[in-house]
Amino acid sequence: MTVSARTNTPDRVNPDGSKTITTKRACNGCGQLLGDITNSELAAAIAGSPLPDVRRECPQCGPTAPEPVCIPVTLVAGDMLCLEFECDHDSVEPGSYCTEVREETACATHSTSVAAEHGFDEVTHAEPWPCRAGGEAREPSRA
Ligand SMILES: [Zn+2]
Ligand SMILES: [Zn+2]
Ligand SMILES: [Zn+2]
Repeated sequence: MTVSARTNTPDRVNPDGSKTITTKRACNGCGQLLGDITNSELAAAIAGSPLPDVRRECPQCGPTAPEPVCIPVTLVAGDMLCLEFECDHDSVEPGSYCTEVREETACATHSTSVAAEHGFDEVTHAEPWPCRAGGEAREPSRA
């Protein structure tokens, strides 16, 4: 996801002397810390998926970094109640989203998201896949 204004939460020292540290995203070019990790980056890291290319965000690598490659992601779109399994709609099978929830493919690199309180990112701009924002569009590896 393109993060226009990545927050950078400083480490906090709690009254009991312990420290609260917000996980930071390191530049994949030079390793310097760029700011708070986003929910989607954290999810990718936990899942063992490759993290998005953030060299363009880095003051050191940005000027020479190539345009980040487009990465397809599947987004679920629908009512917040539906996404949280709180709605009254029939689901296709137990534990799955209801029929009101749509799946869309978007470009993770050229979409914009903000961290939501629910533990996942809220997509404010979804760039439709196949993505044309990065110049040459890449075909999805699997349809
Ligand atoms: Zn860098
Ligand atoms: Zn793209
Ligand atoms: Zn629903």
